[in-house]
Formats: sequence, structure tokens, C-alpha cells
Amino acid sequence: MVGNSSSNTAGKPIRCKAAIVQKPGEPLVIEDVIVAPPKQREVRIKVICTSLCHSDLSFWKLTDPPAIYPRILGHEAVGIVESVGEGVHEVVEGDTVIPIFLADCGECTDCLSEKSNLCTKFPFSLSPWMEREETSRFTDINGETLYHFLSVSSFSEYTVVDIAHLTKIDQAIPPNRACLLSCGVSTGLGAAWKTAKVEAGTTVAIFGLGAIGLAVAEGARLCGAKRIIGVDVNQDKCEIGKKFGVTDFVNPGNCGDKTVSQIITEMTGGGADYCFECVGMKSLVHEAYASCRKGWGKVVVLGVDHPQSMLTFNSFEVLHSGKSIMGSFFGGLKPKSDIRILEKRYMDKEIRLDEFVTHEVDFKDINKAFDLMTEGKSLRCVIWMNK
Ligand code: NAD
Ligand code: ZN
Ligand code: ZN
Repeated sequence: MVGNSSSNTAGKPIRCKAAIVQKPGEPLVIEDVIVAPPKQREVRIKVICTSLCHSDLSFWKLTDPPAIYPRILGHEAVGIVESVGEGVHEVVEGDTVIPIFLADCGECTDCLSEKSNLCTKFPFSLSPWMEREETSRFTDINGETLYHFLSVSSFSEYTVVDIAHLTKIDQAIPPNRACLLSCGVSTGLGAAWKTAKVEAGTTVAIFGLGAIGLAVAEGARLCGAKRIIGVDVNQDKCEIGKKFGVTDFVNPGNCGDKTVSQIITEMTGGGADYCFECVGMKSLVHEAYASCRKGWGKVVVLGVDHPQSMLTFNSFEVLHSGKSIMGSFFGGLKPKSDIRILEKRYMDKEIRLDEFVTHEVDFKDINKAFDLMTEGKSLRCVIWMNK
């Protein structure tokens, strides 16, 4: 049974193109796939734009579980509702929506609390299935299962997403900007705004100046940070960082016999007020911890390291330093409410999105987006599904 839908395709399988990862690290292959109709509380969307986030790149390369193939990656996107499953009343056919890898059920203790964005009813998982039924909506033309990714799988002309993972947005925002709000840029902005709650006049250090790190810089600038120190092994990020308000740049390769944390501690007279790890390396979390001011320094972990990676801290050091370490998933943002705030602030020209889009490609050239990110040449490459 189909919910509030009247499209010609509602209730029927759709045959369309999707980019499949067959084996880790191999170029994606664009193939015909069958996308089943949405089931209860699910929505089928026509993807308009998707962009590549480093998390797609990490999972594309992953060889051990939770890696699973063949899989349809992609989780930064914007789309139009094609049809809705039973029990969906929040959106209707034709609505513009952003899928988000974190659920917001709107009912559990955490979703009802202002303090958290980690839903208990649909906890984050790396499951390859739709979460209510633990089945896939994708098959190849031979009927073989294709696996979902992060509850979104946007590297497909059509995808099915649970309503808990969808936010309706205003159609006025261009799709090649809207998709950035689906993960990376929102995450960085939120980490400064909601997780760290950066205060005016403070000093921030950001490890890794990709889209996430530069969005942290943008968020810190909006919060009134007076000094923003960027750390990156790619020297090109020195000039790029300036455009996003980075005031000082440290290249770990040019530190001589000093560590990055020694340099930052000297530059700041005792350590930065906030340090953000935006790469996904445990050694950088430790370096960020060492770069933070004792007493009140906060370390915010954003980077996604491999699942077995462990952080080790000396207990006396933790006790005596008084520093905090915090994880920031999706920047601490609540998908259903905070995305609309960011969208409005972009439309009001308060936050920048345009500058994050360094490249745009057609869907057939999706592998170019992977090459550009691997080579450190792009911030965000927008992939147009049907331009
Ligand atoms: P990106 O590839 O665009 O940027 C990474 C940057 O880190 C690059 O500029 C690179 O030169 C730099 N870098 C690499 N090694 C370094 C080192 N040793 N020291 C300093 N800089 C180094 O990636 P991105 O899309 O900005 O994503 C960054 C990280 O954030 C990834 O781990 C990604 O998976 C993660 N992420 C987390 C969330 C979340 O909710 N917390 C959301 C999206 C992405
Ligand atoms: Zn992402
Ligand atoms: Zn919830």
C-alpha cells in the first residue's frame, strides 16, 4: 500500500542508474539497478545533487567489516520526493528534502532533548540495510542484493530513505549548495556552534583543512573567535584557509624539531581554547589534546578513524590538565530543526556555502570526484545526477 503519492511510478519498482562499488578501492561502475517502492515510514527520492565526503572515500577503501559489497555509497545529497510509503505524513511528492545519516525520530528522550542529536530509537549504525525491516531496497538487474550506506545511498538516481533521516527544506536554495548541508559543511559549522560553543575573543586550532575543518573555521568566525590556527600537511591549504578566516597556518612538515603542539602552545601562550580534529587520525587527537590550554581547553573529535583505532591518555595527565575531549557527530546538530536554521542563514548571506564547491561533475564522471579528493585538490565536488 502506498501513502500520499500520485506519481506514475508510485508503488512500482524504478529502473535507473546507480554507481556501484564492487570491490574496495576499485572505480565505481554505473549500472542499471532496480529501486523498490518505499515501505512503511520510508520515502523514495529522486536525487538531484550529491557531493563526495571523505567518509565515502574511507568506506570505499575499507577492506574489513563493517565493509560490505556490492554497495551504493553517497550520503551528502538533496532530492525530490517521488513517492512515500504507508504512514508518511511529514512530506509529499514534489517536496525538496535533504537526507541525513543521523536519525531524528522526534520521540525518544534524546531527540526531545536539546542536549543531544543521538537518537535512541534509531541509533547510528553502519548497517547495510533499511533500519526498520533490515532489508535492502536495491537489487541489480539479475535480482542480486545491493547494500545501503549510512541510511542514504545517494550515488543512485533514486534512493529510499527512512522518514527519520529526511529533512524538508525550502526549494529556494540551489541544489548544488543544499547538498552541502546534508553532511560536511553542517558538521563543521555545528561543531563550533553547538558542540564546542566557541566564545567570542577565543583562539581555535583546526587540524585538517578539508571541508569539515574549513566549516569549523567558518563557524568559529561566526561565533567571534579572534584567532583561527589551521594545521594541514597540504601547503595549498594555507591560501585556501585565509578565504575561510584562518589567521595562522602550521604545516607539520615545516616545524623543524618541534611538534605541532609545541608550536601552537608557544603561539598562543599556553594552548588554544578549542582544538578540532578534522582528519581522522588518533595521533592528531593526541596532538590536539596537547595543543589545548590546561584548565578549560576543549578537544572536539570530528575525524573518522578506522573502527579499531584506540585513543590512550595518561590518567594523571587527564586529571591534572582539566581539559575536555568531546565527540561531535554531525556537529551536534539536530537534523530536523538545525538544518533549516543553517539554510536560512545561508539565504540571508550570513554563512558561506558557495566557496566550498570547488568542482562540479556529471554523474557519469563520479570517479573524478574520488580522484580529486584523494589528490587533495577539492573541498567539495558536486555530482549532478541529471543536468
Ligand atoms: P578532506 O579529505 O577534504 O580533508 C582532510 C584534510 O586533512 C586535507 O586537507 C588533508 O590535507 C588534511 N590532512 C591529512 N593528513 C593530515 C595530517 N597528518 N595533519 C594535518 N592535516 C592532514 O576530508 P573532509 O571531507 O573534510 O573530512 C574530514 C574528516 O571528517 C574525515 O575523517 C571524515 O570522515 C570526517 N567526517 C566526520 C563527520 C562527523 O559527523 N563527525 C562528518 C563528515 C565527515
Ligand atoms: Zn559525510
Ligand atoms: Zn530519537
